[in-house]
Amino acid sequence: MGFLSKLLGLTIRCPECGTPGAKDGFAGVRCQRAGCRFHDATYAAAVQRATEGGWAGAAPVEFLQPITINYENFRGEAKTFVAEAGSIRVRGAHVSAAVQPTGRRIALKRDKIANLAEVDGVISTASRPTPREQRVIEFHSRRGTTSALYEELRRKYPDA
Ligand SMILES: [Zn+2]
Repeated sequence: MGFLSKLLGLTIRCPECGTPGAKDGFAGVRCQRAGCRFHDATYAAAVQRATEGGWAGAAPVEFLQPITINYENFRGEAKTFVAEAGSIRVRGAHVSAAVQPTGRRIALKRDKIANLAEVDGVISTASRPTPREQRVIEFHSRRGTTSALYEELRRKYPDA
């Protein structure tokens, strides 16, 4: 599955200006140095946010559909996570999501998420089968048959 590798991408030295921490992603090279031909303001801002957040690694992973999760941690401190909308799953009383800067998956308690309605809205959209996928699911579940695609769809949408 190419989704995670797309998320993680590659951090390189900018081919134009030589600045480290440039991103060679599917959208082309993005450089954090202002004035560079490959400069990307959104990317540069994301790098700066990650750096200010105390993360000393390379550039943060690039999310296709970032969503902010406002959270209260076990010490009662307010935390903000940027999560990939497509990665968010409900796991009982928790929400599991891949978050920046590394793309590592974390578990968050649902009752500690301040903007839970917004997060749930994203989950229901992301975890709903497309009409075509829904037809495949219904075809096999009615007949009690299966296929590789059906098995994959059952894994992807356990609640469908
Ligand atoms: Zn550059």
